Amino acid sequence: MKNHNIILLIIAIFLSACVTKNQKVNDNDSPPDSYRDIETAYFGFDIKVTDLGDGLFQLRTDRSGNVGVLVGSDGVFMIDTQMEHLVKKIDSTQKELSGHRDVELVLNTHLHRDHVRGNAYFADKGAQIMAHPNVRKYLESSRAIVALKREAPEVKPAYLPSIGVSTGTTVSMNGQTGYIYHTPNAHTDGDIFIHFKEANVIHAGDLLFSGRFPFIDIDNGGSVAGYIAGMEKILEIADQNTRIIAGHGPISSEIHLEDNIKMLNETHEIIKAHVDKGMSLKEIKQLNPLKDFTATWEWAFITTDLMVQTHYYELTGRLE
Ligand SMILES: [Zn+2]
Repeated sequence: MKNHNIILLIIAIFLSACVTKNQKVNDNDSPPDSYRDIETAYFGFDIKVTDLGDGLFQLRTDRSGNVGVLVGSDGVFMIDTQMEHLVKKIDSTQKELSGHRDVELVLNTHLHRDHVRGNAYFADKGAQIMAHPNVRKYLESSRAIVALKREAPEVKPAYLPSIGVSTGTTVSMNGQTGYIYHTPNAHTDGDIFIHFKEANVIHAGDLLFSGRFPFIDIDNGGSVAGYIAGMEKILEIADQNTRIIAGHGPISSEIHLEDNIKMLNETHEIIKAHVDKGMSLKEIKQLNPLKDFTATWEWAFITTDLMVQTHYYELTGRLE
């Protein structure tokens, strides 16, 4: 029996190593060279910590949305909380950075599960959870994501944010002033980004999928036009020195937003031309009109076909 357990353990370790390797293969987004020198440590194999200075850190797992943390004498402020099975490790990592303090304040950038499903864990330890009011509204009556064939998830009350915030809200902590901005009908209809003015760091939430096709959740109030407007709003606030925590992908800058806007405008025009000819989604996919974008932008979650579908869904309201 004992040997049997050891064999199972070895198999489990082997399988988890395979999963990690495969995720690395899909994750073709090494950070820009200029930021390599500020990557300070790896806490375990799946959380990469980037020190952005002034008490700000990015915690990145590549299994969920990137987490931002501001630590200092006033307390711990966390932006996004990832998921149930990752949150304990997220918390122990932030504790290494904050001198073993609990998180006191959380901001959710939007409603998706990979950004909010750690909320219950931190709320249970006394944290206040903030988000745009639409996040609570959409979570209380959750919807299916038809475009991804996902049913409406069950959302426990413990995940719900208790404080509604929007453009004009500021958070002053640890020598930083965090200016909050809401961008309507973008990635969803409850997206927020926050600019820490003194450090000149922005957490963009899923308004930036850096170097990869974005997911635009039309079923939850997102739109391609609003998504582009959201990125343009970040560009308005940022300057050439601003470091941007993307929802997914490496630490970024204005250039990554500009590239993403250009790609979305170009791909939208291409799909629109085919829709205007009266073609169906299937017929357009067969032509593969976005093939020139695949090498640069496709990744495991949003394939070229799914990007075609996003534009088609936006233009026609149909998925066929
Ligand atoms: Zn999202």
